[in-house]
Amino acid sequence: MKSLEEKIVKEGRVLNDNVLKIDGFLNHQIDVKFIEEIGKEFKRIFKDEKVTKILTVEASGISIAYETSKHFDYVPVIFAKKTPANNQDVSVYTTEVYSYTREKIYFITVAKEYLKKEDNVLIIDDFLANGSALNGMLEVCKQAGCNVVGCGVVVEKAFQSGGKEIREKGHNVVALARIKTMSKDKIEFVD
Ligand code: 5GP
Repeated sequence: MKSLEEKIVKEGRVLNDNVLKIDGFLNHQIDVKFIEEIGKEFKRIFKDEKVTKILTVEASGISIAYETSKHFDYVPVIFAKKTPANNQDVSVYTTEVYSYTREKIYFITVAKEYLKKEDNVLIIDDFLANGSALNGMLEVCKQAGCNVVGCGVVVEKAFQSGGKEIREKGHNVVALARIKTMSKDKIEFVD
């Protein structure tokens, strides 16, 4: 998505070799008009899928998932909740996720009542790095026995391993911007 690449170059800030800050339009302040465009783009990509639920993880995935839902007949958006400890509650699906940015383990939970085996789920997230967040959501879907129709991420750092590994498992992972390399003064995208 050309406009996204341009926005990343213009407004993004590379903190070190591995973390890109796009707080100005997605991760802290939300550029609503632009996130609307992202929702449209996910519709264009996944238009042939019969999506019944969109799954994301709090907090930054929510605005993207919400805008995407509008193009899939307003299907419900479920955001997995992050908890610091393993939840023993039997009414939730839960799994461990390693936080890339905070460098610690947390758990995500989704109430069983919101995810059913009949569901066709589109997974949405902001970033894909080593794949822990996406793998966590895929695991939750596996526990629920539902069908995952695809995974849409806004930014994939393609120099990290997550995207490759998850695609190799057979999942349809689509990123709107794929970063080949980044440093404080230059960001290059995969063609
Ligand atoms: P992964 O689980 O794939 O290693 O990392 C993905 C998750 O970590 C995303 O949900 C996102 O919140 C966070 N993340 C990973 N890399 C970045 C980054 O470069 N910038 C920001 N803002 N978040 C990131």
